[in-house]
Amino acid sequence: MAAPPLSWKGSSPVSQAPAPSENPETKPYFDALRDGKLLIKTCRQCGQVHFYPRAGCPFCFSASTDWLECNGTGTIYAYSVLRSAKDLPVLAYVTLSEGPTLMTSIVDSPVNALSNGAHVRLVVRPGADGTPAPMFTVI
Ligand SMILES: [Zn+2]
Repeated sequence: MAAPPLSWKGSSPVSQAPAPSENPETKPYFDALRDGKLLIKTCRQCGQVHFYPRAGCPFCFSASTDWLECNGTGTIYAYSVLRSAKDLPVLAYVTLSEGPTLMTSIVDSPVNALSNGAHVRLVVRPGADGTPAPMFTVI
């Protein structure tokens, strides 16, 4: 691994949370996002829920998983306001009501409404590459 730079000056701001890529395994996930819904996976073997979506359970490695539609609510676990970014200025970890925590963006929310533990609801917006991405707004 390369050493971190001595200065971050001039580096590109992080403006988009990492996202799963669209492929046959994740097609239902992206189809649901296009309908404004967020799908995660639940394991038939151990019962755990997980995000990001993948065929195998990351807890017990079972290939027996099902899609689960989230109710679209959660809470901010942690956030960072990226003052130099133009479009998606708040990067956050949001813990879904169903349990998993995902890296995402907070949108349409005043900065003074942000706090760890704040309740949020799902909104689907285009990500940096134009594919739909789950984001959240403070409620
Ligand atoms: Zn499992």
